[in-house]
Amino acid sequence: MPLDLSGKQYKDVPYEEKERLFEEVKRDFRFDEYLYGCYECGICTAACPSARFYDFSPRKIAQTAARQDVELFYVFMNDSVWDCSQCFSCDRCPRKNSPGGLITLMREVAVKNGLDSAKEAIEGYGRVVFKIMSTGTQVSPDMLQANAFPDWGPHVKDIAENLDVWRRALPPETMHTTESSWQVDSKTITELYLIWHMTGVMDMIKEVDEGLFMILQDVMEEKLEDEGYDVSFD
Ligand code: SF4
Ligand code: SF4
Repeated sequence: MPLDLSGKQYKDVPYEEKERLFEEVKRDFRFDEYLYGCYECGICTAACPSARFYDFSPRKIAQTAARQDVELFYVFMNDSVWDCSQCFSCDRCPRKNSPGGLITLMREVAVKNGLDSAKEAIEGYGRVVFKIMSTGTQVSPDMLQANAFPDWGPHVKDIAENLDVWRRALPPETMHTTESSWQVDSKTITELYLIWHMTGVMDMIKEVDEGLFMILQDVMEEKLEDEGYDVSFD
């Protein structure tokens, strides 16, 4: 769908609110390293894989931030930044900008402020986020189910039914697991839970998905209590 840059979809959002979010992005200590100005050369967009498939342009996002166009910046923060695959091919910018880094900041501010667009963007990934944050590893083998991934071809069913055997055939022992991609030791997972708590990651999850926050909270508080930490995520 073509991106609507007119801003009319957000005409009811007060200018002051859009400006507040723009200033929040600018206040981040990384902002000055991600944007030094923009030649408008388009090299970033030429290098960007997402620009080939979506109505998406890191050049326009960098330009908009450099020109301090608050209205358009708000449109991009809601409707465009989620198309970035965070590959950082755009870091070849001759002005030494990092449009992908700038987009990271915009996403973070969108999540921290609980924007509806941020909630919609992560809606389909709750199961994946839960898996990553509860086990400390990426998407796990037991998620490879025919009903979840019908487009992965006819062998998914066979693999899912004999997953245990397939996993035990892998050489490293740490990969003989079906519930996680590899075995994460108890000390590491404890440290990850503490980091996510202390750095505000759990607050961000709460802002965009209260249900996901609650099930993660149960898992994490119980584990930390077992390890002797008295931590509350509320
Ligand atoms: S961000 Fe860099 S690569 Fe992209 S248009 Fe601006 S100067 Fe060119
Ligand atoms: S980080 Fe985002 S904007 Fe930059 S090249 Fe990759 S997909 Fe494009």
